[in-house]
Amino acid sequence: PAPASAPLPVLGLDVRAPLATGGELPYAALDYAASAPVLRSVWEDVAAYAPYYGSVHRGAGYLSQHSTAVFERSRATVARFLGCRSTDQVVFTRSTTDSLNLLASALPEGTRVFVFETEHHASLLPWQAAGARTVLLDAPRSAGQAVGTLERALAAAPEGPKLVCVTGASNVTGEIWPVRRLAAAAHRYGARIVLDAAQLVPHRPVHIGELDVDWVAFSGHKLYAPFGAGVLAGRSDWLDAAEPYLAGGGASRKVARDADGGVEVEWQNGPARHEAGSPNVIGAYSIASACEALTGAGFPELAAREGELTTKLLAGLSELPGVKVLSLFGVDDESAPSDARAEAERRVGVVSFVIEGWSSAHVAAALSAEYGIGVRDGLFCAHPLVRALLGARSEDPGECGAPEGRSLNAVRVSIGAGTPEEHVERFVRAVRELVR
Ligand code: PMP
Repeated sequence: PAPASAPLPVLGLDVRAPLATGGELPYAALDYAASAPVLRSVWEDVAAYAPYYGSVHRGAGYLSQHSTAVFERSRATVARFLGCRSTDQVVFTRSTTDSLNLLASALPEGTRVFVFETEHHASLLPWQAAGARTVLLDAPRSAGQAVGTLERALAAAPEGPKLVCVTGASNVTGEIWPVRRLAAAAHRYGARIVLDAAQLVPHRPVHIGELDVDWVAFSGHKLYAPFGAGVLAGRSDWLDAAEPYLAGGGASRKVARDADGGVEVEWQNGPARHEAGSPNVIGAYSIASACEALTGAGFPELAAREGELTTKLLAGLSELPGVKVLSLFGVDDESAPSDARAEAERRVGVVSFVIEGWSSAHVAAALSAEYGIGVRDGLFCAHPLVRALLGARSEDPGECGAPEGRSLNAVRVSIGAGTPEEHVERFVRAVRELVR
């Protein structure tokens, strides 16, 4: 294995090899779907900018002006990366979860929100919590079924504003959803659609105009940038008509005393309306830097390399007795993939599996302790989906780390730019040894 501190240049993207575990083996981080390592170019950009940062939109001084330019340039970079339309806006948030909660807070009165029960909780929960009515759609077992289910639900819905929320790629199965077809179906029935691109955006181009979605949400920490910043990009009308997500400085254009001794306020339009307080310039800049690095490396090349590693992973796992890889689509599909390569093509590099008779928590613990491999186990903040995949009932325990022997959880292995082939090989070897 390479020395623990060696960088791993892949397609010109330099992902720092994470720290050694302290033992013989350098650590193999195979949990990109949770958070990806930060690109070296992002660290370097941030380090070069750090001595110059000041408060955005607040001052006439050089540092403040410079930071304002950095912040607004980052917004423009993200808009370009996502292929935003001229009327779209890019709001910097804290994360995908924050972006979807922001949109939930901006829904017109009486909006019905259509979501598949297979969604990550970040896409599933904000709507009802914000007072909208959530219409839960059954887990589809093929891409075509997803479109049909959505169409039927929209056709049966009463008049009124409607929003569809779908994932671009599942954080559990890695499967890529038929976003363009779902967007067309939504628009045919007068609904709008928001794409949860948390898992898709690090692996495939996400172009708002081409997909014809109304909004896109994603997080920096899955896109090779640090934690703490995310994006909501898309149509301005609902956002500009809504109460600010956060009330405070920057979101207000004019504040005065009203005739009754209360406060009269005029809010900003545009991203500033929902970005009150001192914004996270470093976070925004990091996201923009990662967007540029990924564009420079090229998505076709990245996807091809990740596809090869994913094929290797799936082929390795499929040889092992008792190992079941979890898939939602393909079950009712005549065109179900026939081999590991075809299977890999319909996903990003995220694979979850169970081993018959084993607790997934133990498998994950053994991979970490004995092989220096970091994966995730649990229900991945997608309880209804994991239940559907494992054929569990809703009364079965829902918490990650179910009691021994009652393994209502799975192991998830996920890769990305910078994953060395050796990590995938070590992983497959380790699971083979454990099964044996
Ligand atoms: N959606 C999906 C599909 C995800 O995988 C995640 C993160 N696991 C989220 C939303 C939430 O992202 P964050 O925790 O950064 O808000």
